[in-house]
Amino acid sequence: MPMKFGGGDKCASCEKTVYPQEKQEAGGKNFHKNCFKCTNCKMALKLNNYAQAHGILYCKKHFQEQVTAKNTQSEVAY
Ligand SMILES: [Zn+2]
Ligand SMILES: [Zn+2]
Repeated sequence: MPMKFGGGDKCASCEKTVYPQEKQEAGGKNFHKNCFKCTNCKMALKLNNYAQAHGILYCKKHFQEQVTAKNTQSEVAY
């Protein structure tokens, strides 16, 4: 089943419809410009400084802290 329902892209962050004037495409997904921000610090992201893990957006700094560090920690926890 395709993810699109009869026209209108959905924001990969809030899952609401994205209209062309507020659309931000990144990594083959669509976001609202307002939703295209770091999950952690809410900093507005740009195409040249964002990072994405499992559909969650981060700035480069928090990607390192949240994703890279978390992977290390879960290995230690096991
Ligand atoms: Zn959104
Ligand atoms: Zn951040």
